[in-house]
Amino acid sequence: MLRRSILTLPLAIAAQQRKALKITALETDLVINPPRKPNYDALQTLGVHSGTVTLRIKTDAGITGWASSNFGAVEGGPKVLRAILEEEVKPLILNQDPAFPRKIRADLHRGLQYQGLSGITQFAIAATDIAIWDILGKHANMPVWRMLGAARDRMPVYSMCGWYYDNDENLSQYKAQIEKALSEGYRAIKIKTGKYSIQDDERRIRLAQDLAGKDRRIMLDANQVFNRNEAMRRGRLYQQMGVFWYEEPLPPQDMEGYAELARELDVRIATGENLYMKYQFNDLIQRRGADIVQPDNRRAGGVTEWLEIAAIADAAGISLASHGGGDVNMNMLCAIPNAIYMETGGPQPRMINGEVTAPESPGMSTEPKLK
Ligand SMILES: [Mg+2]
Repeated sequence: MLRRSILTLPLAIAAQQRKALKITALETDLVINPPRKPNYDALQTLGVHSGTVTLRIKTDAGITGWASSNFGAVEGGPKVLRAILEEEVKPLILNQDPAFPRKIRADLHRGLQYQGLSGITQFAIAATDIAIWDILGKHANMPVWRMLGAARDRMPVYSMCGWYYDNDENLSQYKAQIEKALSEGYRAIKIKTGKYSIQDDERRIRLAQDLAGKDRRIMLDANQVFNRNEAMRRGRLYQQMGVFWYEEPLPPQDMEGYAELARELDVRIATGENLYMKYQFNDLIQRRGADIVQPDNRRAGGVTEWLEIAAIADAAGISLASHGGGDVNMNMLCAIPNAIYMETGGPQPRMINGEVTAPESPGMSTEPKLK
């Protein structure tokens, strides 16, 4: 009897102490930005239509979880996302215990499968998961990266600074943006390629290399614009010029094309910002179609999905870098042993020697601070 009570008593106490949290409300805000001066990659025009949906999930313990989803293009996207959150996600998560993110994800997959789990549906599922992990971190009084089991407390970052601009034939705007990033302390920068000729690419890369010097890394991003032959032809030039990685040469669905490129080229192939959930990443990884996977926290999924993607990549010896930056990405990347970079841009207050230190507030550090 004694033996039994020693074993069961702590469990009984723990059960009593464990106060189940309950989700009591889901709220959203929609902000559509006024059009700004556009910038371009090889595929897209960004900045003309942009907006943000902010999500708040409230609990009976008074803890609110936050997430937000940004759109750099797509006029109707934010409105669709808001409708999915308010009309589809909300009834599925009300009264659930946020300590069960994998159960909630399964319920959302079951409840939303009719419209497909990719596209803006996944933006909604990912934002919900991120807000839930914000709640869990706040409840545990820990930053999420510590709660997940940290691999590090800082991340190397690079600046996405070399866009295409209107009226920039002499590359003066391009040059100014790279100089700005270097003066902000970045040790790695990314530039867009593939919009014009291979000669134009060479000129842009050469200029970036001259500005950056030998000790800083240059990444290239072609934003899906090539077919397989052209991707190979340009890839050989990029490789010879010694860039650090060659990103999204092909449309994301051409997994076999990625496998071909990764096999033939020595330059690191990076892709993944347009892949959804671990199943698509697993497909790419099984084919060995990338050296670096780049999940996006709206499309790939939230924290729960990211950790699984990272583990699949890690088992295959493949590195991970985030598409996009900010504290949600920092919280996930610091818990991922095979993470190598966070994408970002602009001045970073917590950057030391080309690395950003992890946020220390409980949760995701995404709660807006009232000014
Ligand atoms: Mg990209």
